[in-house]
Amino acid sequence: MQQPLHILRSVFGYDAFRHHQADIIDALMQGQDVMTLMPTGGGKSICYQIPALLREGTGIVVSPLIALMQDQVDALRQLGIRAAFINSTQDRDEQRDIETALRQGELDLLYMAPERLLGEAMLQCLGACRIALFAIDEAHCVSQWGHDFRKEYQQLSLLHQRFPHVPRIALTATADARTRREIIEQLALEQARVFIHSFDRPNIHYAIHASGNARDALWQFIQRHHRGEAGIVYCLSRKQVEATAEWLGNQGRTALPYHAGLPQGLRQHHQQRFLREDGLIIVATIAFGMGIDKPDVRFVAHLNLPRNIESYYQETGRAGRDGLPANAWMSYGMRDVINLRMFIDNSDADDIFKRIMRQKTDAMLGLCETTGCRRQALLAYFGETLAEPCGNCDNCQNPPQCEDATVAAQKALSCIWRTQQRFGAQYIIDILSGRDDARIRRNGHDRLSTFGIGKEYSHAQWRSIFRQLLAQGYLTADTEGHGSLRLTAKAGTLLKRDVAPGTVMLRALRTSAPTPARTRPKRAASLDAADQALFEALRELRRSLAQAQDIPPYIVFSDKTLMAMASMRPQTEEAMLQISGVGARKLERYGDAFIARIRDFMRGQDDNLSS
Ligand code: ADP
Ligand code: ZN
Repeated sequence: MQQPLHILRSVFGYDAFRHHQADIIDALMQGQDVMTLMPTGGGKSICYQIPALLREGTGIVVSPLIALMQDQVDALRQLGIRAAFINSTQDRDEQRDIETALRQGELDLLYMAPERLLGEAMLQCLGACRIALFAIDEAHCVSQWGHDFRKEYQQLSLLHQRFPHVPRIALTATADARTRREIIEQLALEQARVFIHSFDRPNIHYAIHASGNARDALWQFIQRHHRGEAGIVYCLSRKQVEATAEWLGNQGRTALPYHAGLPQGLRQHHQQRFLREDGLIIVATIAFGMGIDKPDVRFVAHLNLPRNIESYYQETGRAGRDGLPANAWMSYGMRDVINLRMFIDNSDADDIFKRIMRQKTDAMLGLCETTGCRRQALLAYFGETLAEPCGNCDNCQNPPQCEDATVAAQKALSCIWRTQQRFGAQYIIDILSGRDDARIRRNGHDRLSTFGIGKEYSHAQWRSIFRQLLAQGYLTADTEGHGSLRLTAKAGTLLKRDVAPGTVMLRALRTSAPTPARTRPKRAASLDAADQALFEALRELRRSLAQAQDIPPYIVFSDKTLMAMASMRPQTEEAMLQISGVGARKLERYGDAFIARIRDFMRGQDDNLSS
């Protein structure tokens, strides 16, 4: 019998298993159930694909998004694996053909949505076939608490009753303990072997800015680090999605909007273009992303504060699945903090739910305002300890300065108190700055003792102070929607006499502009100039091969594989097989074309040298 490692090498073209892959495959081979959590890009699919190839019968993959099945199946067929999907995008004849192939044992893997699988017709059909295993992808969809909730997922425990001897594997990248418990309960996986991998994504650089003009900051970031590279920009509202996409378009980037308000067909089209073309930006609400397997997303940017750390981590996790350097970048402002709090207070949820939501928001704000390593804070949230600061986040690279802002905080709070907690930050800042303003005069606020006592700070600095006071829980915004600021019980302690210096420490206010983040090691930096030129030539070849077959370029070869070719320059089939990501079938299909292109390139270099 063939061994898993042999399949990994000959079919997938990879050298060795990573993380728990080998153990998971072993467990499934022995007929055990498995539940696994691995971060995005960790290599979950191979865990069920290899056992499906080795065990007798067909592996059934439950996947929530029919829109992505085509690409998943295309990728497998490129490897010579007999894969198919069955869903409503196919006509009756096509569906019947697939069922026939299934019955005759001609399929290694079959993808379908849960509603299809749970239909009595399909269950009966499967009852008459050999099933190698069931793989339940995106298993966190069983959770009512998450925003990917799918009701049918909760009925999948049926598989355990109907097919007690077929091993099942549930896979997810969602980390929190509650979701984990729900998956095990809902899917009847109490007996399953559980494999949890570290959630760290060391190749992702995290940076969080509090910025006045998020859009300009975003543009600077994209220009500096991601010219011509693919990325996702998350916004809170549909309107902001549209406006940002248009703006990026005017700046000269191809940027496509994606949100639930767009017609289904257009949404689909934009997603498709994002997957198939190089260097596109998608601007989206959180409606976009689940199951997006595009490996070469080089950045994920947030123009607003995400609701909680789980969402933030899942969204940023869509960057750098290929393991190459990628950026998670966020800009947020005071308005975000207020909006988030208001959103919770105004929701219809019961008090317990609200309390949980508030804790989650506070944790998110804590991450934003922390002066320590972001990765340590993130992993700690998921119950993991990182012993040393990571060296690959904004705070590690440019440690933020803190300063004693106790007096400034007292001025701000007292001004809010003296205006009966009826005004928003802008107005309060105007009073503190002593602004000559009709409304202030009309209200008689130019005669307050706090009028003009804050001239030592600019408006921008005051905004930063208010944002941080909100984040640290000295202030709340009212829930009626005007955003007027109120004092909390914690604020009371500051309004007494004799408050010790150093009671309120804030991130540096006096540094004029934030020091630009140190440039991350560029992807291209690992290639020298000549390798880079060859890499571009190979990318061009990949693009035309992909276009001819109407598949995304990364299905032909990943960037990582092309980079390895560009630096190793294989010119024989044996040498080509040594490249990670080149297996037997891909060698057969593309080997000659890539070898020829490499030879051309080398010859061009020789000519240059001799002339
Ligand atoms: P996930 O589903 O966990 O996000 P994938 O299964 O899509 O991740 O794998 C991410 C990438 O890593 C894919 O390009 C995959 O081919 C690659 N990969 C998986 N396992 C290995 C391995 N053992 N060695 C090298 N590359 C691997
Ligand atoms: Zn760090």
